[in-house]
Amino acid sequence: MDARDRLRRYLEQRRDMGETEMLLDSMTVDDVMRAIGAIDTGPRGSTSSDAEASSDWREALWEDRPADDGLEAPADSGELFDDDVMRLNSLKTIENAVAKCTRCRLYKTATNPVPGEGSPKSRLVCVGEAPGANEDATGRPFVGPAGNLLTKILAAVDLRREDVFICNVLKHRPPGNRNPLADEVLACSPYLVRQLELIKPKVIVAFGTFAAQTLLDTKTPIGKLRGLVHQYHGIPLVVTYHPAALLRNPAWKRPTWEDVKLARRILDSPPGA
Ligand code: SF4
Repeated sequence: MDARDRLRRYLEQRRDMGETEMLLDSMTVDDVMRAIGAIDTGPRGSTSSDAEASSDWREALWEDRPADDGLEAPADSGELFDDDVMRLNSLKTIENAVAKCTRCRLYKTATNPVPGEGSPKSRLVCVGEAPGANEDATGRPFVGPAGNLLTKILAAVDLRREDVFICNVLKHRPPGNRNPLADEVLACSPYLVRQLELIKPKVIVAFGTFAAQTLLDTKTPIGKLRGLVHQYHGIPLVVTYHPAALLRNPAWKRPTWEDVKLARRILDSPPGA
């Protein structure tokens, strides 16, 4: 067995265990598998037979977006923001809409919708990628081992889960925890945008590469996004590692601690500071 076969076997084992990230800049396991030719990318470069859309969700998500702020639909789009979701007037009505949503294929394979939970008056919103198996089974975001770690992370800066709003970019679980597809992100994003509009938090914390790159419309690796205060439509946004990644890479706990302390400082800052 040559080095390439050994690497492929190692990556396959990691992927079968549910891992999608590794310590190689922002590349996912599938990216590396594709790079070494261990995944047939097919004519469209997609690994999913049901994916008619590009596997680069960021390009499809943002290509129709206005350059200035994104909250107004472009005249020829009407897809992302100019729809009924943007007229939902409470978190409860969003929850009800998500429960009945058929805007993308994910409702067909998920067990429960996971719209998010927390107070409409939350001053801090945590945004992750998508529900996993535990979240799908319970209908609640960030439960199971990663959720327990998030609870501890929040407690370390004197916050209880009920003090914050917790949600994901996608509201239904992608089957087998596969990466979200571009059209799924495009279909689901209005729910998150509307949740943030209604809550108007003082700070947003994006957990993990996917949430950070989606909210910030960038392909910059998470290592270069964290440690800074970004802006999401005028709301300060801090990027940090996803708790599931921390469980695999304990060395990231210290930078994560620094990131949540940064979010806490923003929370404690006087208005207009
Ligand atoms: S993932 Fe989002 S867009 Fe897709 S069905 Fe669920 S709520 Fe609707």
